[in-house]
Order: sequence, then structure tokens, then C-alpha cells
Amino acid sequence: MEFIRVCEPVLGGNELEYVSECVRDNWISSAGKFVTEFENQFAEYSDCKFGVTVTNGTAALHLAAVALGLGPGDEVIMPNFTMIASAFALCYTGAKPVFVDVDRQTWNINTKLIEEKITDKTKAIMAVDIFGQPADYDEIQIIAKSHGLKIIEDAAQAHGAEYNGKRCGSLGDVGCFSLFANKLITTGEGGVITTSDHGLYDKLRYHKNLCFPLDGPRNYIHEDIGFNYRMPNTLAAIGLAQLEKIDEYIANRRRNGEKYARMLGEIKGVQVQKIKPDNKSVYWMNSIVLEDSIRLSRDEFMDQLKENNIDSRMLFAGMNRQPALIKYGCDPNGDFHVSDRLYERGLYLPSGSNLTDQQVEYVVEKVAAIVKANS
Ligand SMILES: *Cc1c(COP(=O)(O)O)cnc(C)c1O
Repeated sequence: MEFIRVCEPVLGGNELEYVSECVRDNWISSAGKFVTEFENQFAEYSDCKFGVTVTNGTAALHLAAVALGLGPGDEVIMPNFTMIASAFALCYTGAKPVFVDVDRQTWNINTKLIEEKITDKTKAIMAVDIFGQPADYDEIQIIAKSHGLKIIEDAAQAHGAEYNGKRCGSLGDVGCFSLFANKLITTGEGGVITTSDHGLYDKLRYHKNLCFPLDGPRNYIHEDIGFNYRMPNTLAAIGLAQLEKIDEYIANRRRNGEKYARMLGEIKGVQVQKIKPDNKSVYWMNSIVLEDSIRLSRDEFMDQLKENNIDSRMLFAGMNRQPALIKYGCDPNGDFHVSDRLYERGLYLPSGSNLTDQQVEYVVEKVAAIVKANS
């Protein structure tokens, strides 16, 4: 059995043809037809009116926070269990992330714990669609509405996922996607922001491009401090080719994810992410959490998988454990026992779009054998 990786990009469509077209026609920078085409098609795919490409998912989150007007003195409530970029992007604006633990079963922000963290400084809630499963947007929207808060959706792991029939990216005021190599679709490095709010769309485009006036004369006079977050046409070309294949990739991930959930669910001693009935996850990553009945540390478990040619990764460390965020002034105190446990006892299993049925079965067979030998 060859080594089974956690994830690798699948470039199975028109990528080479579209990139070649950019090179041949001399359109390799951030103007060009693929940028517009990719933005439009990505927005439509994500049930939104507008799409804005950027250089990466972190930039997408930062730009979204800027466009919403977040800054020093503002607080944003976010899940404690996520990738570090979710929090850093808020810090770039001067706003303060406020952490809330995640739900024990879905691993998304625990909406019951949000209201107690709201103060008169709170301006927004950031929800993260963790591992490809949408957060609880009905609840989040009720809370946001009653306190006048904006919603940033970090959908970096959830391209094409659905909540009550609506695609991720459309579930808050603004949706942020990453196109990094291990995400559902990729441009190598890249990101997209989605929104249906015309005012926000203009602010995103304005701040993305050094605050050059959106219309009017190019007289090199700038009213605000902006960023250069422009995606080049060559990468948008890859993005468009990837988007043409996304339904195929998602179908494969769903088939594998459902199979993993069914088979792993039968192994006593491991927990899998619970997918809510309202949700259609895209199964970005399939993970397990080892219960205490298994007499191996997480690292020992990963070593044994590796001996069987199976790659795995530990899960994210909670935001409450990040020295960078504590130095910045975030409050690490509170009850974060769910995210703590995910960090200490959780790991990803191979989950790429090109994973085969046989590979899933092989991985589960080995997990079961390791559990059995060590319980
Ligand atoms: C990947 C990811 C990001 C950051 O995206 P980059 O393209 O790597 O900058 C942000 N949030 C979450 C939840 C992610 O998974």
C-alpha cells in the first residue's frame, strides 16, 4: 500500500490550458478575463451576488473585517477552535477577538455561549464552518439581529457546503474562502470574499486595491490606507478550472466522508464529528478524537498510523492557548474543555478529493486494529 496523504491538490481539468492562455496572451497580472469570470462564477456558485478575489484566505478575512469597519476598541466573538488566521485577521484591524468554546458534537461555535460574551464593544460574530460543516446560522442570526451585530462567515473549509439549502459564503454579511492547496478547490495560494451587499462589495474592491478610487480620475490621490490583495489572472485561471470540477470533488468527499462516519462510528473509543441534519457538509477533513479508554497518546496513535503508511495530523490548538493572542490582549480564561480535548486527543485522517473507496476502508481497518490492540 502506497503512503496515503492527508490531502493533496487535484488538478484534473482545464488548469494548464487556461494558464497557458494567460501566458500566450500576455495577461498574467491582476487585470484579465479569468479574474472577472472566476469572481462571477464563484459568487453564483456560493449563492451570492458578488465575489472578490484576493491573495489568500487570511487576506480575505482581513479585508472583510476592514470593509465592515472593525477597528481598535471593537470586539468580535469567534470560536476558540479554528485555524489561527481567523483570529489574526481580526487583530490586523486592531479589533479584539473574544473566544467561545465549540459544541461537543459538531465542533462548531457553541451558540449557547455567545450571549454571555457580548458587551457594548461587540461589533460582530465570526462563525467558522469547521471541517466543511456550516455553523448554526439560524441561532447566530437571531443573536446578531437582537444585538445589532454583523456576521463574518469564515468558510475557508466549506466551499459548496449547504445549510438549509443555502451555500456557505452566503450565510452571514460576508463570506471568506481560502484557495490554499489543501482546501476544497485551490489556486495554490488565493482567496475569495462573497457578499450580496453592494456597499460592502464596493468597500472590498476599494481596500483591496490600495484605495484607488473605484471610479473617477486616476490622479494618484488616496483618501484612505488600502492594501494590495490582488489575485493575478494566472491564478484565477486555475481557480476557474477548479470550479468547473468542484461538484465532482465534493461528491467524492461526501461519499468518503459518509463512509468514514458510518464505519468509524462503529469503533468503540473514537469520536467523529457529528453532522447536523440541516447541514450538507463537504467533509473537508475527516477527524477522530480518541477517548480515554484508548491507552495511547495522540502522537503514539499517529506514529502507528504512519507505520501503516497512513498520514495524519493533529488538530488546531485552541485560540486560548496561543501566546501571540494572549500577548495581544485576548482573554485566555474560561471554560474551553471541548477545544482543549480536540487539541489533545484529535487527529485528521486522509481526506483528499482523490481518496478512493479502498483507501478509506484500509484506513478504517487500521484505525480499528490500533484501537483494539490498545483499549
Ligand atoms: C485555511 C484557513 C484560513 C486561511 O487561509 P489561507 O489561504 O491559508 O490564508 C482561514 N480560516 C480557516 C478556517 C482556514 O481553514
